Amino acid sequence: MKHAPHALRIGDAPPLSELTGIRLGGKPVAEIVLQGKAGVEKLPDLVAELGGLPAVIGKGSNIIAADGDLPLVLIRQETREKASFARHGAEVRVTAPAGLPLPVLLNAAAAAGLGGLEGLAGIPGSVGGAVAMNAGSFGTEIGSLLRSLTVFSPRLGLREIRTGAEQSGDSFKCLGPLIGEDVFRPCPEHSGERGKGGEGRTLPVGSAATEFSYRRARCLGLPFGSPAPAAGDFPVLLLEAVFALSESEKDTVRGRMRAFSAEKRLRQPISAASAGCVFKNPAPDAPAGRLLEEAGMKGRALGGMRFSSLHAGFLVNEGGGSCAAALELIDTAVEAVRRHSGFILEKEVCLWVGH
Ligand SMILES: Cc1cc2nc3c(=O)[nH]c(=O)nc-3n(C[C@H](O)[C@H](O)[C@H](O)COP(=O)(O)OP(=O)(O)OC[C@H]3O[C@@H](n4cnc5c(N)ncnc54)[C@H](O)[C@@H]3O)c2cc1C
Repeated sequence: MKHAPHALRIGDAPPLSELTGIRLGGKPVAEIVLQGKAGVEKLPDLVAELGGLPAVIGKGSNIIAADGDLPLVLIRQETREKASFARHGAEVRVTAPAGLPLPVLLNAAAAAGLGGLEGLAGIPGSVGGAVAMNAGSFGTEIGSLLRSLTVFSPRLGLREIRTGAEQSGDSFKCLGPLIGEDVFRPCPEHSGERGKGGEGRTLPVGSAATEFSYRRARCLGLPFGSPAPAAGDFPVLLLEAVFALSESEKDTVRGRMRAFSAEKRLRQPISAASAGCVFKNPAPDAPAGRLLEEAGMKGRALGGMRFSSLHAGFLVNEGGGSCAAALELIDTAVEAVRRHSGFILEKEVCLWVGH
């Protein structure tokens, strides 16, 4: 493995079947491993030199990737940093690196007696992947707890972006030189600063800095990460997130996490090789799992892949499965549900196929 300047590591990528929860996917061109924020500005040039589409991966728990050789350069984050806590008025702010496993963040919050994240207990993945997917469960969506994000993309540069309650005035802090100025619509009192950028300067934008919707997140109009890597797109990379939590009894927080995890274990095949729920629920009273079950897809199998007999929304690799078989089953399921109930199911998983 070569070491590029600024703490980036470049090397041979393992096949995605070794990096994804569903154990599917072929071999990317290369991978770039980031430790912290140092050198992040070099990513676009490095990806271009390596010759592939940039594809950001967290813990791979929500990705189904194509079989065979893949024209992708993976961008992966490793972290030895822990979550840190600081009081901020009535709330406690938790800063977490994007590469931190989500369960580690939840356990750290519980150990500190901080509530808010418990509904996410039992969701695998990284903090970065959870924010990119606006992960949610039991009435909690991670986007609603965010106060600020540090992101990088060639268009945005390296930026700290304030979200939610912090977003009053629609501002964000520029941590480096401006690259994509077209996102700015300066208000008169700041117009003199337009285009100068510079360390720590806060600049206004015309639209909401972040938008969180059902299993999707956007940052200044751009999607986070790589829902489907495509030519010409450089993803918005999340490097760090700050959440607002509230003080609570440690035992109460731990008890709620245990209860939510137990509920998940009872209803979902959480230890099987899967990418979580394949489809979004088309309506609150029409969960995809129930629609799939009613359409006869529960337990349906093909080429090593099966719609789980425990929860029909989960497509499981029983061993020896392929992406081709997964996609065929997914298409069959969409058609079966359309015929049975008229709903057109939309995919929740990120499909890294068709490059
Ligand atoms: C058993 C099981 C149960 C699950 N239950 C739930 C659930 O209850 N609720 C729920 O919402 N999800 C659930 N999931 C789905 C999944 O765990 C979440 O979406 C998780 O947050 C994804 O995190 P990840 O790190 O694995 O992301 P990945 O799968 O690696 O990536 C997902 C997307 O995020 C992007 N991404 C990852 N890291 C970053 C980053 N640092 N910056 C920018 N973009 C990034 C990727 O490019 C990709 O587009 C479940 C999955 C499994 C396998």
